[in-house]
Parts: sequence; C-alpha cells; structure tokens
Amino acid sequence: MKAVDRNDYAPRYPYLDEPQSIGYGATISAPHMHGYALEKMQDYLKPGMKALDIGSGSGYLTVCMADMVGSEGQVIGIEHIQELVDISNRNVRKQHAEWIDNHRVKFVTGDGRQGYPEESPYDCIHVGAAASEKPTKLLDQLKAPGMLLSPVGTVSQCMMIYHKQKDGTIQEEKWLGVMYVPLTDKDKQYGR
Ligand code: SAH
Repeated sequence: MKAVDRNDYAPRYPYLDEPQSIGYGATISAPHMHGYALEKMQDYLKPGMKALDIGSGSGYLTVCMADMVGSEGQVIGIEHIQELVDISNRNVRKQHAEWIDNHRVKFVTGDGRQGYPEESPYDCIHVGAAASEKPTKLLDQLKAPGMLLSPVGTVSQCMMIYHKQKDGTIQEEKWLGVMYVPLTDKDKQYGR
C-alpha cells in the first residue's frame, strides 16, 4: 500500500483511516479494510497472476493489486459508473501511467454482478460492494485453485471468502462483519 499514494485517489483526507465518499454514491474503503483484503488475497496475487476487482471505484485497490502481481500479471477493474472509470484512469496516470498503457491495469465499464467473463479465469476476484447472495456467476470465473473475496448480505453483511480448491469444489469462510455499499443498478446508485 505504501507503493500507491492514496493522495492520488482520495484527495480530501487521503491518510485518514475511514471510508470516504468519492462521489456518484460510491465510497473508497478505509485503508485498514484495503490492508486486510490485500493480506488475505496475497497467495493469489503473486507475480504473474491475474485478478479482477469488481466495483473498482477510485481505482486505489486495483492498483495495489497490480503492484503485487508484478509486470507479468494483470488486474482488471470493473465499475458500472463511467465517470468513476474515467476518474480511476486519471488517478492511476498520475504516477503509474505505464501500467495503463501496457494493460497491467485495465478498467472496464460494466455490471460487475456478471463478472468479466471475457478475460476469465482469474486467480483472484475481489468485490468492493455487497452482493445480495452467494455470487455463483463469479465463482465460475475463478481458476482452481482460486480465491473470491466478497461482502455478502443485505441488512447485515459478512465478508465472505470462497476458496476454490484444485478439484473445483468451493470452501466457504465467514470472515468479518462489514458495511459496504450494495452491488446495484446504475440508476439506483445515482439516486442515492
Ligand atoms: N473498491 C473501491 C470502491 C468501493 S465502493 C475503492 O475502494 O475505491 C463500491 C463501488 O462499486 C462503487 O464505485 C460503485 O459504483 C461500484 N458498483 C456498485 N454496483 C456495481 C455494479 N453492479 N457493477 C459494477 N460496479 C458497481
């Protein structure tokens, strides 16, 4: 995380350990949450690996993940608000323009509830907004072995970790109680 300056992504209070609004009904998670998630995913963000960050928002976590997978790896961020995709590209260009140019980091606009099958399978999938139920479509886009980390739930949410084993079976781990914005429809989010 020290390799990616939050000042480029959350300019209001970059180093405050709290979630912050980034506009359009979206929030950049608190640094401690990003830290927990990166640590949990580290075995699936090794050099050369491929990952998907759903609800990429500011782009901060996507770029931290890209730092970990190295120059042979790739991280795709998918976000449904076009303005946030534009902002994340601009944020990354401040210090890591070459990562956009050589596609080590790639932001696409789309509904993350569908994942991004065009580039699947992934070693690791991170979801930065809460899924209402077990995200089976995303599990299908994981390699075996692979890891999916996602907040799941509506009224109360749990950060779930799904470990896809070598034989393709899924092992579920309930990790933390959390509060994330929901994975939703664009129009609903604009109305918030
Ligand atoms: N991880 C990011 C942003 C987290 S906020 C960061 O830390 O900066 C959650 C993000 O999910 C928001 O940017 C929101 O626009 C996005 N989102 C919500 N529903 C979505 C959907 N259906 N498809 C893609 N992105 C979605």
